[in-house]
Amino acid sequence: MRILLKISGEQLGSEQDGKGQGFDVGRAKWLAGEIRQTLANALNSGPTEIAIMVGGGNFVRGAFFDDAIAKNEIGQTTADNTGMLATIINATLLGDIFRAEGVPTAVLSNVSVQQVADDFTFRRAESHFKKGRVVILAGGTGRPLVTTDTGAVNLALELKCDFVAKATKVDGVYTADPKTDPAAQKIAKISYEQAINDPKIRVMDKAALGMAGDHQMPIVVFDLLKDGNIAKVAAGEIIGTKIS
Ligand code: UDP
Repeated sequence: MRILLKISGEQLGSEQDGKGQGFDVGRAKWLAGEIRQTLANALNSGPTEIAIMVGGGNFVRGAFFDDAIAKNEIGQTTADNTGMLATIINATLLGDIFRAEGVPTAVLSNVSVQQVADDFTFRRAESHFKKGRVVILAGGTGRPLVTTDTGAVNLALELKCDFVAKATKVDGVYTADPKTDPAAQKIAKISYEQAINDPKIRVMDKAALGMAGDHQMPIVVFDLLKDGNIAKVAAGEIIGTKIS
């Protein structure tokens, strides 16, 4: 079993300001413990290999500069490049913390920053998996105009993962935003088409869902912050929402 876990930058940021900004070492240590537990549990049912695609929204997203982009002050590519650099900050910090917490981990980047992290190649990732390491993926796809959600699906396909585990703040996909609409109901299973076409469902960007649908890559949406949830998702337990 090989899974690709997508974690947004906000989930690595501090809760103190309510916006998930910066990098929260305590959260990263907790995450390392959850991954360690997931790998230990998996020993009974055969090895689980984990790739993690990290976002960068706790530092920079291309969209932060939409005004300046509209006024031609900053180019879209530059804005997106800064977002990809933000993901590299997250990935390298997370890599160190994982290793310090006893989780063997490699960081590979789709943006070439050789002084900071090795370039991603399929073969390198395979070799790290064979050695029992978690592979943290930095730099998204390495191309502008998409997000790390699309990167997650893209890399899950390239790495032949069984599914994408998309970590969110809520425990799955709802018929509407559960924070603002008390009538919102959790959906256990939806199709790619429903997830793309229903404007109230905003769990992942459409490009990511489209690519997943084209290649039949299942996506499990689940609540990251509950103890034991990553292990449950990795073990195939039905929590959250499955998009397939
Ligand atoms: N980005 C990009 N190409 C990629 C992945 C990311 O250009 O393949 C840029 C894009 O501007 C994006 C930012 O990096 O907004 C940070 O990624 P994302 O918004 O997905 O982070 P998250 O919301 O998951 O924290």
